[in-house]
Amino acid sequence: MTDDIWGQVRDELEEAIGQSNFVNWIEPLEFAGVKNGVIVFNVPTSFIGNWVLRNFGDQILHHLNKAGQGVTRIEFATPAASPGKRSAAPAGRTPRPLKRTTGGANRGAASASDFPGAPIYARYTFDSFVVGKPNELAHAAARRVAEGGGAVAFNPLFLYGGVGLGKTHLMHAIANELKARRPDLNAVYLSAEQFMYRFVQALRERRMMDFKEMFRSVDILMVDDVQFIAGKDSTQEEFFHTFNALVDQNKQIIISADRAPGEIKDLEDRIRSRIQCGLVVDLHPTDYELRLGILQQKVDQYHADGDRLEMADGVLEFLAHRISTNVRVLEGALTRLFAFASLIGREITLEMAQDCLSDVLRTYDRKITIEEIQRKVSEHYNIRLSEMIGPRRVRTIARPRQIAMYLAKQMTSRSLPEIGRRFGGRDHTTVIHGVRKVEELKTTDDQLAEDLRLLRRSLEG
Ligand code: ADP
Ligand code: MG
Repeated sequence: MTDDIWGQVRDELEEAIGQSNFVNWIEPLEFAGVKNGVIVFNVPTSFIGNWVLRNFGDQILHHLNKAGQGVTRIEFATPAASPGKRSAAPAGRTPRPLKRTTGGANRGAASASDFPGAPIYARYTFDSFVVGKPNELAHAAARRVAEGGGAVAFNPLFLYGGVGLGKTHLMHAIANELKARRPDLNAVYLSAEQFMYRFVQALRERRMMDFKEMFRSVDILMVDDVQFIAGKDSTQEEFFHTFNALVDQNKQIIISADRAPGEIKDLEDRIRSRIQCGLVVDLHPTDYELRLGILQQKVDQYHADGDRLEMADGVLEFLAHRISTNVRVLEGALTRLFAFASLIGREITLEMAQDCLSDVLRTYDRKITIEEIQRKVSEHYNIRLSEMIGPRRVRTIARPRQIAMYLAKQMTSRSLPEIGRRFGGRDHTTVIHGVRKVEELKTTDDQLAEDLRLLRRSLEG
């Protein structure tokens, strides 16, 4: 690996964990080298090393592996220690994700004589996956595949959805579950980028036969983020052949992408149509309940790890409400709060959350406006925008208006009086009434619940 690749990974990390985390924790790392799957950084103090390992270890590995680097472990060298010799994780406080990641990698990759799979994160299990309405179908399908233990349920299983909604997590969960149930099976997970990287490498080294043989000898193949190979013709070609060979042998294939098969540009038609022979399921954007559940689970995890974190009431609700799309960002925000609170040794309060996360919160503020919501809802119900904010109270107009109020409350950070003002100068009690009405209806009225989901999706997308 080169400084360049680390540079690229650093950029991705900055985006993933936010600038202030990046400046505090990643910038101080000086890349020292990679050997036998271990990446070494020089750090000024072991404290930094510990923090990074514990809080960002997974993400660093994730991005390194995405960049085609088969790295399974991170080590830190402090000025006092000789480089590479010393791990920053003291005994007894070994960060869980990392420790298990290493174990998973060894087992996963070693079983098929240096098979080019990527490490499986032991932390990404079905147990740690919080199920809610937006992801229940994808979760059920993934479980079915994992529990089939090699008996093919649907081929391929194609999971798609926006960034950070849990595709990779589910694929790793399948791998982990299979490993426990059927250790004899050879389940291989890798990103489409890695597939391409291996393919190109095999071409260059004239080892295509080995490559083909290896890929045709797996029992379950999982390829993450296949949108990446669209337009890369020879890679697609090879992928297609691998795919067919495995399907013909009745081996399970699981694929993910960030969008539906029909929406991936430059994906060969024959690949697309084979994908559509299997089961295609999508992960919808998260809803408030799911986000709250995920946050709660993270906090429980921290407590289980022995962290005594005090948190005021309402902080999780605030985060779930305000950070509304990407689970990775949500987790990152919580990690940052934890880091901050433990540095200054204070309880996490709402004010602290607002201060410490102001940059993240601002990004999400900008995203959706009340006007956009009004426009989308009017279009959806085929009424005029002027009617939406006008005085008429007939049901066909009042209901969409209430739905728009509800979405404005959920998806923006505007106060109730502010929302009232934007709806033709209505009182905030009218807004409260509207929001309550929709909350009530959506549990009994399936059509309305579906409308809400659609509207939310189109607003977020
Ligand atoms: P994707 O591959 O769809 O971009 P990931 O699977 O990498 O998303 O998920 C991003 C982060 O969010 C991961 O840390 C993952 O564990 C977490 N995550 C996503 N969905 C859930 C969920 N339903 N329950 C728990 N964690 C989740
Ligand atoms: Mg992913």
